[in-house]
Amino acid sequence: MDMDDVPTQQRNKLPDHLERQRTRVTCKADAPTHTQGFQYSGAFAAMGVDNSVSVEKFCNSFKIKINRLTEDDMEFDMIGVDASIANAFRRILIAEVPTMAIEKVFMVDNTSVIADEVLSHRLGLIPLDADPRLFDHISDDVPNERNTIVYKLHVSCEKGSQRLTVKSGQLEWLPEGSQLLMASAAQGEKQKTYTSFGQSQKNISGRSIGVKYKDITIARLGPGQAIELEAHAVKGVGKVHAKWSPVATAWYRMLPEVVLLKEIKDGEAEELVKKCPVNVFDIEDLGNGAKRAVVARPRACTLCRECVMGPTGEQVELRRVRDHFIFTIESTGALPPEVLFTEAVKILEEKCERVISELS
Ligand code: SF4
Repeated sequence: MDMDDVPTQQRNKLPDHLERQRTRVTCKADAPTHTQGFQYSGAFAAMGVDNSVSVEKFCNSFKIKINRLTEDDMEFDMIGVDASIANAFRRILIAEVPTMAIEKVFMVDNTSVIADEVLSHRLGLIPLDADPRLFDHISDDVPNERNTIVYKLHVSCEKGSQRLTVKSGQLEWLPEGSQLLMASAAQGEKQKTYTSFGQSQKNISGRSIGVKYKDITIARLGPGQAIELEAHAVKGVGKVHAKWSPVATAWYRMLPEVVLLKEIKDGEAEELVKKCPVNVFDIEDLGNGAKRAVVARPRACTLCRECVMGPTGEQVELRRVRDHFIFTIESTGALPPEVLFTEAVKILEEKCERVISELS
């Protein structure tokens, strides 16, 4: 569009207030404003600004910056994506990245006070130390070394002894498959077990399979009580049952931006510093006893909005950067958090490919 009346240097650039509305959510004392993004490609065409989405723009702006990485949890910044993409990763992590979990329990003996179904449910929720990428989903197949992991639990509390606590570490992995014999076979036939392993699972995993945490209490046994069972773990996803979810939690928040609209000095500055429960503000000494408030740790802001209430409220603006997410993944232990994220990326990629192939 020809806009000779607009000076050349101002074309392709939005005025500050519009740029702020496009890229930030502003959090007022009562409610946030400009929460809705500008999705329409021609939203700013009149000002010569192209608001369309393109792969090139995405490649130029997308960044991942890892802030913290431990065995079980990670925090990283995901920059240059829409909230819908960040949310897609969160949902895939919770519901679609597969893990192994106990699905069937063959109860041989249970004289503890816990009912069979409650005990089975508890076993299902124990995080297993098994790489799900090495296993297949079980459908109508016979349980075999590629789709089932077998654990055995056989504990008893002797009469006259102290009460016994049964812990998850007492679950014993059976790499050769089930040891429970099915109903007696016909004469001459070999007696079958509840799995049909063609080889030892040691050859598949290359390491020992067990439980992630050995100190989870499963039951308490009194004198004379016993539990004997066999538990079969299979591959599944969190949208079927939460026990298959690979994350304790996966969540994100938009990057906080705390801006002082005016200089806040002396007593008001001290009051502002005291208001913030997470020490976002600091006092800067200006000499001669003068002080002013500065924003020292904006990432720590929890959006409690204390600072935008009261007399200093008009002088502080709380914003959130619309395309910058602080993402946290807490793994339950089956896979390290960084692997979980790459698995989530692969799943999203597969979904996109499916849509493209359906369209074409
Ligand atoms: S919103 Fe709360 S946490 Fe954030 S800067 Fe203000 S007082 Fe601190």
